[in-house]
Amino acid sequence: MKEVDVLVIGGGIAGIESALNLANTGLQVLIVEKDLSIGGRMIHLSKVFPTLDCAACITTPKVSEAARHPNITILTNSRVMHVSQDENKLFLARVEQKPRYVISALCTGCQDCESACPVVVNDEYQYDLVGRKVAFIPFSIASPRIAAIDIDHCILCGACEKACGPGAIDFTQEPEQVMITAKSIIMATGFKLFDPNNIARYGGGRFKNVVTSMQMERQLVPTRPFNTVLRPGDGKMPDRIAYVLCAGSRDATVGNPICSQICCMYSIKQAQLILGALPMADVTVYFLHVRAFGKGFEEFYQQAKMMDVSFIKGKVGRIREQENGDLLIRYEDIASGHVKEASHDLVVLSVGILPTSGTEQIFEPEQPELDPFRFFR
Ligand code: SF4
Ligand code: SF4
Repeated sequence: MKEVDVLVIGGGIAGIESALNLANTGLQVLIVEKDLSIGGRMIHLSKVFPTLDCAACITTPKVSEAARHPNITILTNSRVMHVSQDENKLFLARVEQKPRYVISALCTGCQDCESACPVVVNDEYQYDLVGRKVAFIPFSIASPRIAAIDIDHCILCGACEKACGPGAIDFTQEPEQVMITAKSIIMATGFKLFDPNNIARYGGGRFKNVVTSMQMERQLVPTRPFNTVLRPGDGKMPDRIAYVLCAGSRDATVGNPICSQICCMYSIKQAQLILGALPMADVTVYFLHVRAFGKGFEEFYQQAKMMDVSFIKGKVGRIREQENGDLLIRYEDIASGHVKEASHDLVVLSVGILPTSGTEQIFEPEQPELDPFRFFR
């Protein structure tokens, strides 16, 4: 049982910033994060638009300040399962912390278990571009930097136990329940990315050289898996890279009629970063409208044009994969009024964002109201 002033659900940049602001006024704050590390999506980004500041340089000082703050407690690998309110309007929350199968107090983060583990699965922190071990530290700047065992894929060979000097591996750990009382709750549950498999005509998830913008983002960060930009199908350095904007946004046929508000600008940012990594590449952005609506955004858009990024106004109808892995984009060219085709080595789908589903259901009996797009009203 733990009493706090504020329960922050979600340990991404919004949750961390909220927690720090509140904790600095003297309030006791608890952050509950479902992932193995706090930092959310932002800790995985390269740079931010339109300033091109390093995303990790903004996030990591906040992550480490939150981790060390005397008024902040952090539960990772944990989910709020249920929230009710008593007659005094005090929230009562039940939190479940899943086992890491590693004793946090003993783990030094040495990664010897990771080296010894023989099983490799897709690395979700590199958006499946490469593999990771089943005994693993989530990523190099994770907080806490403590190993975890992905028990669903573990073959219980015991190699990690033998390798771990401090004896931190513990397969007997069970889920733990923590009851929280809080005067306020901040929902900072973030968003989920639109699943490209839901637009079959673009081949996302089917064609190896059609990637999502998050997969491209990971190829542009300092901790990137390949140390350059490669197309996943054959490891070739791409010369002709296409961006398809509004992939899963402003499209009622895929159930998301609204603008995600970030895809235009992150694509323009990535186009500029690609030209830093591959100066000879041709980058083409297929768009419906470029919504450069914020301070400095229009200038950032113009800067990309000056760097020779091509912008083609036209709806992409279909993408086909060719025998050599290249992609043929069929699009309606608004300027000429004709349907055209263009070949590219790599296609990036600028996927939109959707609300994290189901978070309202933890509240009982009364649930927070949602808008028609399932965001919290
Ligand atoms: S669990 Fe053991 S071997 Fe793995 S990182 Fe922690 S201390 Fe090192
Ligand atoms: S017991 Fe599981 S986590 Fe440990 S080394 Fe074997 S497969 Fe990897």
